[in-house]
Amino acid sequence: MGTLKHPVVEDRIIQGEGTALEVWQQSQHLHHLKALELSKTFPLNSRICIVAPHPDDEILGCGGLIQQLDLAGYEIVLFAVTNGTASHPNSRLYTPEQLDHIRPRETMNALEVLDLKQSIQRIALNIQDGEVAQQREQLAAALKPYLQANDMLVTTFEHDGHPDHEITGQVCKQLAAMLSLKCLQVLIWAWHWASPGDARIPWHKALKLELNPKQLARKTKAMQCFKSQLEPDPSTGKAPIVSSNALTRLLQPWEVYIDDEGHL
Ligand SMILES: [Zn+2]
Repeated sequence: MGTLKHPVVEDRIIQGEGTALEVWQQSQHLHHLKALELSKTFPLNSRICIVAPHPDDEILGCGGLIQQLDLAGYEIVLFAVTNGTASHPNSRLYTPEQLDHIRPRETMNALEVLDLKQSIQRIALNIQDGEVAQQREQLAAALKPYLQANDMLVTTFEHDGHPDHEITGQVCKQLAAMLSLKCLQVLIWAWHWASPGDARIPWHKALKLELNPKQLARKTKAMQCFKSQLEPDPSTGKAPIVSSNALTRLLQPWEVYIDDEGHL
């Protein structure tokens, strides 16, 4: 998810506990979203590039999708925009140097818990955590050489409320347009600040992926690998980066993707 030093987007400020899970669970609006059908959305033989701003976004956002794509035989590559080294400022327990190793390892452990048929390659793009906005060009330049004609990009929503998520979404969308690739954007922080039917989310372009109980259980178990994000830091006295409420809200039997195809 990533720590927030300063919310840059004033109408999508992330604060407090956010929208209650029950509000989403009871939402008729969410219930009636168009279903994401794997074979319709992802052409056969396409390679799926998951572009995650921070280690944990790939699971929080796409832990269900990754399992379903893998089961259907799609090749998946994970691009890690940052290594999430800015999550614990002033910590003696988690220094940036330590996080540089810890957080990528947490991702790899989490992918293993998903019990996939393939082993997913993780490619680090080495952008500085918390500074994706300042390194927008570097991100595009780092990602572009890896992209192939049969790629589909899956990344964070360009209006997700967190600067790193937003810039990553924007850069992927621009690259996709430039290279005539398709790009889907997953909601992560939006579950916090938005509400059902919220006009700031383009619901008419949204596709809902349903997770079966087994897939949700694996995603939930995989998230437990991100201990650096889920446990308090006694060296700074700070609460966990991802609160248990936020985690519960993100571990629901659905993932929602914004698909621009046909709506441009
Ligand atoms: Zn993130």
